[in-house]
Amino acid sequence: MEKETALIGDYLGTIEEFVPGEGTYSDDGKIYAANIGKAILDKENHIARIDGKIPSKLEVGQVIFGDVLNIRKNMVMIIARKIQGVKGEIDVRTGLYVSNISKGYVERPDDMFGIGDLVKGKIIRIEPGMINLSTEGEFGVVKAFCKRCRHPLIKPKKFGNRLVCSSCGHRERRKLAKDYGNVAVI
Ligand SMILES: [Zn+2]
Repeated sequence: MEKETALIGDYLGTIEEFVPGEGTYSDDGKIYAANIGKAILDKENHIARIDGKIPSKLEVGQVIFGDVLNIRKNMVMIIARKIQGVKGEIDVRTGLYVSNISKGYVERPDDMFGIGDLVKGKIIRIEPGMINLSTEGEFGVVKAFCKRCRHPLIKPKKFGNRLVCSSCGHRERRKLAKDYGNVAVI
């Protein structure tokens, strides 16, 4: 069965019905689209997959800048907007697995990212239909927004890894890039 074009994060089915195939990911027993394309729900072989294409200019090792689209238990979806050092803008969905967020153990990705944050990440793996990022080490959030009032968060020197809202004073945590708040997206 072919569904209409799936968008990132679209629900496709459960892991009781299907094995998550190319261009999908599973979280909490449910399967979602990880890429844009035609959703193929193969009931005979019990595979759900997305028939989509990844732009050919992306390569493992490239550094990208992107916005956080959504945050699930196992994965942060990031829309890559720019490849560092490459002219022009892109609009490509990428995924950051919880195990690739930082070298230390991360229990909840939503403690480390907020929707709409600008992230600098490295492409570590390109699978059919899925680009995997890492934010280990120097990578991470370069610009974050208050989860209460959406104003930019600033990083006072004395707060360590904590950020503070420039408007309401709310304090939040992120997986910070080394150069948080000080990054030119070029
Ligand atoms: Zn605020």
